[in-house]
Amino acid sequence: KEIMTAKNVKLSYGNFEALHGIDLDLPEKQLTALIGPSGCGKSTFLRCLNRMNDDITGVKISGDIRFNGKDIYSPKMDLVALRKHVGMVFQQPTPFPFSVYDNVAYGLRIAGVKDKKLIEQRVEESLKQAAIWDETKDNLKRNAQDFSGGQQQRICIARTLAIRPEVVLLDEPTSALDPISSMEIEKTLMGLKHKYTFIMVTHNLQQASRVADQVAFLMNGNLIETGPTEKMFISP
Ligand code: ADP
Ligand code: ADP
Repeated sequence: KEIMTAKNVKLSYGNFEALHGIDLDLPEKQLTALIGPSGCGKSTFLRCLNRMNDDITGVKISGDIRFNGKDIYSPKMDLVALRKHVGMVFQQPTPFPFSVYDNVAYGLRIAGVKDKKLIEQRVEESLKQAAIWDETKDNLKRNAQDFSGGQQQRICIARTLAIRPEVVLLDEPTSALDPISSMEIEKTLMGLKHKYTFIMVTHNLQQASRVADQVAFLMNGNLIETGPTEKMFISP
């Protein structure tokens, strides 16, 4: 079953067409890796999936992108609701300059959740999923920006997971990290595949071959090949 579908997606920044008609479906509870050389349009396509490009001036988008069958570019689409269903994690870990607890609770509070007990449960659940829960709870009060890069990225992952998205967009989530942290976060994400549908931009082919169920290869704004990982990396 496909949870998101994209058909003939074109995007222009002013006169420059960065995506020339992308077709890509995201199978539920699988990880799709979006690979390709720098500047080929990976991030641009990813940002189409939660309408992060909307705010850039001069952007024109056409095509059809659906989440659970609903056209996300329809005027009826509620952007806040969309971004609850389709969360995002960025390349640079950017926790807010306040406590771990407040970072992870942030999205829930924005969403208007008032129930303190519920927020507490979600913070714990998300930090556990992101593998940065600390049984002593000492970490909760610490400033998120005082942690190491790998830990900051885990806090950011927890912050995204706290809203319980169905789809998580990962824009090179490990490429700003040292190799060990990168590998550990990769493992954490793989352990979450039964809970979420992921699409991950990466320029690391080995990483894609390790984590992805499906691989989509983008070049110069065109999707040149899409298929199951084992078919994409092993020659017959
Ligand atoms: P990738 O993620 O594959 O490195 P991007 O999606 O970031 O590629 O960029 C695709 C193309 O669109 C590049 O040529 C880039 O320079 C251009 N681009 C990206 N963002 C903008 C923007 N905000 N304004 C104009 N051009 C942009
Ligand atoms: P990573 O390899 O993910 O960067 P470390 O090996 O640096 O993690 O840290 C291991 C553990 O030490 C963490 O899970 C965390 O509980 C604790 N820790 C490290 N730095 C801090 C900090 N600044 N504040 C609180 N706890 C920390």
